[in-house]
Amino acid sequence: MYSIIVHGGVGAVSHDKEEAVIAGVRGAVKAGSDVLASSGSSLDAVETAIKILEDNPLFNCGTGSVLTFDGEVEMDAAVAYGPALGFGAIAGIKNIQHPISLARMVMEKTDHVLLQGSGAQEFARMMGIAPHNPITEERRVQWREYREKFLRGDAGDWPKLKALMKEHPEFMHGTVGAVAVDEKGEVTAGTSTGGVFLKLLGRVGDTPLPGAGTYATKFGGASSTGLGESMMRTLITKTACDFMRMGLDAQGASSGAVNMLSNILRTEAGIIVVDNQGGVGFAQNTPQMAHAYFKKGMSEPVAGL
Ligand code: ASP
Repeated sequence: MYSIIVHGGVGAVSHDKEEAVIAGVRGAVKAGSDVLASSGSSLDAVETAIKILEDNPLFNCGTGSVLTFDGEVEMDAAVAYGPALGFGAIAGIKNIQHPISLARMVMEKTDHVLLQGSGAQEFARMMGIAPHNPITEERRVQWREYREKFLRGDAGDWPKLKALMKEHPEFMHGTVGAVAVDEKGEVTAGTSTGGVFLKLLGRVGDTPLPGAGTYATKFGGASSTGLGESMMRTLITKTACDFMRMGLDAQGASSGAVNMLSNILRTEAGIIVVDNQGGVGFAQNTPQMAHAYFKKGMSEPVAGL
């Protein structure tokens, strides 16, 4: 029984972009489910789905990633392969098209779990990955606007930045994730992001950290979105996987994990989860989280905000 679910980040989607965002997650989940339908692995399905979202400038990952305070793009990505507790991740990578594929290479071609900064950049070069500029004009315009506000004192440090995020929920919008289980019952989770607008150079979010933004075990897998600093402190995806080890299904695990975070920290959070029986689940404490899923036997994916 295979299934796959993707998310396109928590945070409000402006009206004029709703259709395109829903079409984006639907297209990604369809491509991932096609891999699973032709007996492909959950690992291939997750990578396929996330690469499509990384190429879609509407989402905050790959091309279209948000800019740091200094006007750069520094991307984080991770892949978690449940059966072997496999994990590969990169942090602070610039100038490549598909961070998720590089994260997979870290898992498959090195003895490490996480490469960051210039070392990750050098690894990409060694792997023969061509340079690619992920900065779009639309993000550059947003960056100028937010940075001006910040410099006027609207957001002078992290607490103020949080207030600015409340005013502009699109700050948080667009990290992507995918979680799949294949016919063999093997679960993979992946997440890719540009992080959060105006982050300090060198800031690493939850996405590439095991158990924070991304995690998978033989019982299930999860990918989260929202303020990364809170995911790191609560280990939200590890919590969801622990719930599945204790017998909850994917929906129970996702609701339980988001409730746990909301009760403690009250910051924005969303999660997608798949269990090894083919169950899918998602939960968020925000009004919207773009998502789509497909389970074997369905004729079309379900997609929404
Ligand atoms: N979790 C991401 C980060 O903090 C942001 C997001 O999910 O939108 O890097």
